[in-house]
Amino acid sequence: MNSQYKNLSELKRYFFDQETARRFISFLMKKAEVIAPHSKGEKSFAYQVTTDPDQVVLNYPRTIQPLKKFFLPPRETLLEYDLEKNAIKKPELEPKDRIFLGVHSYDMKSILLLDYSFKKGNPESNYLTRREKSVFIGVSYQSDEYHLAEDLGIDIHDVSGFSLFLDPVEKGFLVFEVDEVGANLLNEFDAGLPIDTPLEQDFSERKPKLKMHHKRLPQIFEHIYHSPVWKKVAERCVGCGTCNLLCATCYCFDVRDEVELNVKEGKRERYWDGCMLNPFAEVAGGENFRPTLDSRTRHRLYRKFKYLTEQTGELHCVGCGRCSKYCPAGISLIEIVNDLIDDYNKQQKQAVTLV
Ligand code: SF4
Ligand code: SF4
Repeated sequence: MNSQYKNLSELKRYFFDQETARRFISFLMKKAEVIAPHSKGEKSFAYQVTTDPDQVVLNYPRTIQPLKKFFLPPRETLLEYDLEKNAIKKPELEPKDRIFLGVHSYDMKSILLLDYSFKKGNPESNYLTRREKSVFIGVSYQSDEYHLAEDLGIDIHDVSGFSLFLDPVEKGFLVFEVDEVGANLLNEFDAGLPIDTPLEQDFSERKPKLKMHHKRLPQIFEHIYHSPVWKKVAERCVGCGTCNLLCATCYCFDVRDEVELNVKEGKRERYWDGCMLNPFAEVAGGENFRPTLDSRTRHRLYRKFKYLTEQTGELHCVGCGRCSKYCPAGISLIEIVNDLIDDYNKQQKQAVTLV
C-alpha cells in the first residue's frame, strides 16, 4: 500500500486565529456537509454533522465511535424484495460532498486501511460510493495513556490522506496545505499569504509504550499462538464485543433477511458484527469454531498484527486506544501486547539455554 508521508516543514502554512478558524468552518459548511468532533457529555466526543461552528471541538483525545460509521453504517438495507412482482430494489446511493474536519492521523490511517479491505476482490460499492467525494482535514492531538499510534509508526503529524492539516498554537492554528483540494479551499476562502519563516521542529523525546519496535510485532506473532497470555486476558474479558465495534479498523458484518409477515416482501440488511461475540464463529448444527474467549481474543489480535499484515505489509491496528479506553473490564491492548512480547522474549531465552 502507498503511504505518502509528507513532512510538515515542506508544506505551505498559514495562521488562523480563533475567529478566522470559526469563519473557515462556516465557509466549509457552505461547500459541503461538515462532519467534526462535538462534545457528548463532559468527557466524551463524537463525530457528527456540524450545524454550528461554535460547537466543533478540535482539542479532544478521541471520539467514542471511529469514522467508519460514515462509510459502513452500523445497520443498512442492502436491498428490498417483492416475491409477487419478482423484483428487487436497491437503495440508490449517490456520492455526496462531505468534509471530515478535525480528524486525528490514526483515524485517517484507519480509513486508508479500510479502503484496501473494501477495494480488494469484489469491491464494496456502498462503501466506495460514500468514500468517493470525502475530503479530510486533520488536526494534531495530545497522546494519552490509551493511544498507541506513535508506537505503531503513525505520527501525530502524519498528513497522509488529508487535504489540510491543523496544528493548534497559541491563539489559533497553523493550517498546512497538503494537496490540491486543500490549496483550492484556502484560495477560495482567501486565506491570505503563507507564513514564510522556517517551521520550528519539535525534537522532544517520547517514552515508548511498547517494549518492542512495531516492525518486529508480526514476527513475534509467529511464536505466541500458544501463549498463556490469551487465557490470562480471557479470565477478565466478558465477551461484550465493544472492542470490535469501536475499533477503527474492524469491518466484519453479518447479513440477514428480514421477511415481512406476509412472506412476500422483505429486506436484506447488513449489521456490524465482531469476532469477540460468541455467535460470530457459529456454523450450521450449532458448532462454534472459536467457542472460548481466549481463542476469540487471540483471533482479534492476530487480525490486527499478523493475518492482514501478511497481505498488506501494514499493521491493522492504528493505535486509537478505543478498545482499551472503553473496555468494561479495563483490558488494555498495550498491556496485552507487552505481555506477549515478554512471553516471546522468555521463549527465546529458553531456546538459547536449551542449545
Ligand atoms: S471490550 Fe473488553 S470485555 Fe468486551 S470483548 Fe473486548 S476485551 Fe472483552
Ligand atoms: S485494536 Fe484497539 S487500538 Fe487498535 S485500531 Fe482497534 S480499537 Fe484502535
